[in-house]
Amino acid sequence: MRIQAQARVFLGFHVRAVTGLHIGGRTGGIEIGGLDNPVIRDPLTNRPLIPGSSLKGKMRSLLEKHHGLAMNRRIGQTRIHSCSERQDYQSCKVCRVFGIPGEERIATPTRLLVRDILLTDDSAERLEGFSLDRPYTEVKTEVAIDRITSAANPRPLERVPAGAEFGPGEMVYTIYSGNGEEYTCDPKQDVEFLGVVFEGMGLLEQDYLGGSGSRGSGKVAFGNITLELRTKEDYFQKAHPIGKYKALSELLSEQEKVVSALRENLGV
Ligand SMILES: [Zn+2]
Repeated sequence: MRIQAQARVFLGFHVRAVTGLHIGGRTGGIEIGGLDNPVIRDPLTNRPLIPGSSLKGKMRSLLEKHHGLAMNRRIGQTRIHSCSERQDYQSCKVCRVFGIPGEERIATPTRLLVRDILLTDDSAERLEGFSLDRPYTEVKTEVAIDRITSAANPRPLERVPAGAEFGPGEMVYTIYSGNGEEYTCDPKQDVEFLGVVFEGMGLLEQDYLGGSGSRGSGKVAFGNITLELRTKEDYFQKAHPIGKYKALSELLSEQEKVVSALRENLGV
């Protein structure tokens, strides 16, 4: 097998919590007064964070449903989509970009990696100035009402307050070339498939991240978006700027320009 990384696209961005955000971490049951469902935090600073896996997984799941892909694999109780036939995989943007298990003989490298995103210093300082229920978070109480007795069953939910910003976030998208019996890596196709990342971000803005989304939590917005390209010719010397966008809608409307700028830079 011979596959070569031709270039990498670096997508920088910020994520703003438009409504309170709950991304669950380890249960706090062992602490005194621990919450049932605490938010995930960076252990060094105790600040809440957005795991790259949460962002990537949610984008993938929204894209699978948006494109009506077959839910043909089980991970425990969870059903997901994952191509296992070469023909399907070759044209499946979601599997090519987000990955399939490495043990599949048709697998080529996962194109997209998404890093964990920390709360910005600015948001952390602002939140430190308020008296909150827990460091950097509020506890929202959701109440389930018994339909017969009307008894209330309150459940506390820890959230990062609306308005908090996480960043800078980074997604790295690798463009490959190489051919073999079981696979093809076509850099031109990789450039075109990058669009599915932007589409996943767009679907996420209209859905929610983390838990309790159908009850109001987890609306997020992307901002301060930057796109840069590093090619194998001058990988460590130079980042080629591709574009800057204040909001995702700007990037989505300039997608074609992005693709042609990348193709021009790469000569594909
Ligand atoms: Zn697929």
